[in-house]
Amino acid sequence: MGMDIDFDKLREYKGKRDFSKTPEPAGKKGGEGGAPVFVIQQHDASHMHWDFRLETESGVLVSWAVPKGPSTDPSNKRLAVRTEDHPLEYARFEGVIPKDEYGGGTVIVWDAGEFENRSEKDGRSLSLEKALDKGHARVWLKGSKLRGGYSLIHTRMRGDERNWLFIKEDDEEADARRNPVSTEPESVLSGLTVKEMAEAMAEREGGAS
Ligand code: MN
Repeated sequence: MGMDIDFDKLREYKGKRDFSKTPEPAGKKGGEGGAPVFVIQQHDASHMHWDFRLETESGVLVSWAVPKGPSTDPSNKRLAVRTEDHPLEYARFEGVIPKDEYGGGTVIVWDAGEFENRSEKDGRSLSLEKALDKGHARVWLKGSKLRGGYSLIHTRMRGDERNWLFIKEDDEEADARRNPVSTEPESVLSGLTVKEMAEAMAEREGGAS
């Protein structure tokens, strides 16, 4: 697995942000080795969404915004809109992005963990980046809330290149009765919901001035 970060992949991420104004990381660190990680950040911005991010062989987080959030029910095909790659250190970011900045709003780490890339083509395993290039990746998540197989399929629905589907595979971890987006809203890092995180940050700022 490549340990060198591909800074070119973060050009769009850096171009969209003013790091003197946002608390988000500027993206200096590369991969840490070991199993790749995933994160799902709930992001209460102009529209509520869940950002699904997977560490690739290049040491960046490939990212999708999932408007309805992930599902544990294989019959739910969730729209996932590809967004710019993020630096690996973003996986631990939660807090409040100022209102006038790109993505302004509150972020919590809704779920996180390691994952296995199980992508293949004609019986041969594919790197995650190769699988994404081909438009179909399969991963096995080992999170606190999400576990088991998930597929990412590049559908280009409505003619939009950015449109993918994020689907739970039918395996022993599938559960149509669970709905962790609504029943387990707390951050796996701080234990706070997006609302509590926003209130906590406002209180801290009030105390500092
Ligand atoms: Mn977002």
